[in-house]
Amino acid sequence: MEHPLLQSIVEEVLQQLSEKQAPLEQHLIPIAVSARHVHVSEKDLAVLFGASYQLRIKKRLSQPNQFAAEETVTIAGPKGTIERVRVLGPVRKQTQVEVSITDAKKLGLDPPVRQSGHLNGSSPVTIIGPKGSLYLQEGLIIAQSHIHTNPADAKKFGFEDGGFVTVQVDTARPITFERVLVRVSPSYMTEMHIDTDEANTGLIQTGQPGRIIIHRQPKVIQGSPKITDFPEERSNHQVFGGKLLTDHEVQKYVGETIYIKKMSIVTPLARDTARVTGKKIVIIDA
Ligand SMILES: [Zn+2]
Repeated sequence: MEHPLLQSIVEEVLQQLSEKQAPLEQHLIPIAVSARHVHVSEKDLAVLFGASYQLRIKKRLSQPNQFAAEETVTIAGPKGTIERVRVLGPVRKQTQVEVSITDAKKLGLDPPVRQSGHLNGSSPVTIIGPKGSLYLQEGLIIAQSHIHTNPADAKKFGFEDGGFVTVQVDTARPITFERVLVRVSPSYMTEMHIDTDEANTGLIQTGQPGRIIIHRQPKVIQGSPKITDFPEERSNHQVFGGKLLTDHEVQKYVGETIYIKKMSIVTPLARDTARVTGKKIVIIDA
């Protein structure tokens, strides 16, 4: 480069870029593979195993207080059954079955990819225990790949609760996970969870480290139009009146279907959040 001033500017910019990017891309996180499992409510535990039944601890899991129980159940769908599906404890508010897509095909069911606990509109499933069986209208999901972390580690990594990150895994069959959901709680140990299909695709075993790449949330440009919060009532539903439907609005929205106008733009993250939380985005003419 001929011009000394230009050269020094280029060098400075390059230096700033490397300083800013380097620390974010060095973070490694341990990955754990979750096999198919069932979380049961107290009421459903009694149906499956008998009145006042208590789960017995087989093995403690990495997340505090969580354990694999001695108990297993059979899960069933229209095309098949899977036996010896592990029950995880302690009991939860609502019964939830987490399987891989391969499992779901064997059962003949079509569960959505969901965050744990987000069961509205998820797949029906039958659970069979030694003392009784249950048909659940909803409760079967494919777990969204996610990261558990605590506030201290979240700060170190630059994570935000409810945010998404990309994780690269360098194995004999390298793989990149996009849109991995981050969940922050003081009780969590930092770890990424994937299911067996994801693990098999990337030849990943529990303990394999993944490399974190942070997704930066798009910044709101100053002077951009203000987003209105679903202000317009229509006959029996509300219509989002803003120009830009963001992740924030989708998370805040309590209904199942978000109606938007043709001119509204939906951010990719908003679309992902709608998918993960089971909300539908419908474009209307007026
Ligand atoms: Zn998890």
